[in-house]
Amino acid sequence: MSSDAAESYKKSKDSDAGSNNAHNNQSESQKPGDNAERNKSNKNSNESQGNCYCGKDRNLNIAELLCASCNRWFHESCIGYQLGKLVPFMTNYLFICKNCSPTGLETFKKNQAPFPQMCLTAIANLRQETVKDGSNRVLFSKDREIIPYIDQYWEAMTTMPRRVTQSWYATVQRALIKDIQVLFTYEEDANQGPMFGLYNMELTAIKPNYEAMIKQGQLKVTDMGIATSKLN
Ligand SMILES: [Zn+2]
Ligand SMILES: [Zn+2]
Repeated sequence: MSSDAAESYKKSKDSDAGSNNAHNNQSESQKPGDNAERNKSNKNSNESQGNCYCGKDRNLNIAELLCASCNRWFHESCIGYQLGKLVPFMTNYLFICKNCSPTGLETFKKNQAPFPQMCLTAIANLRQETVKDGSNRVLFSKDREIIPYIDQYWEAMTTMPRRVTQSWYATVQRALIKDIQVLFTYEEDANQGPMFGLYNMELTAIKPNYEAMIKQGQLKVTDMGIATSKLN
């Protein structure tokens, strides 16, 4: 793929995703006129909104879920619903918090994650581990780190049954290569072989694409807020 084609593909992906943080920051920086005014109002709205029931900041070291309705992040440990196994930086779920739910009960549903999503989640977690331990690496070995991560956390990452053969190793490789310069960065290391990182390094921007779910009819906007089309 030429870099122009990759760029326009990325742009169309970005607009599909509606708003990720990088995108927002970019459009904000394009209108520098009333910075002071906007910073002030951002600060106020952040203060009044907060995240989670506990009101504390995001914690990238634990699993957190984004509410489809109020767009706030909730810590796994603060959620009453039995979530099952999760890892941080998942995007294949729907969550509605207690405050937004007409019944006062949380809604949570995990979906199958396509391989590109699993790769993204794996690399984001590998990256965050190196932020935590101070080694601060951005590229990770496909064979020694990314595939073993997915293998270890398969059941947490997706509802797709675990594959019995290793043929999915090749699927991971294809997913990573297909989205170089879109989702992933790539470098060949003489010792470690193919290494991949995240194209958008902003880990806080990794979230479910609720806008697309609304378009596809998996979610509907009602007078009461956002609801799943089939509650179970
Ligand atoms: Zn909390
Ligand atoms: Zn909510």
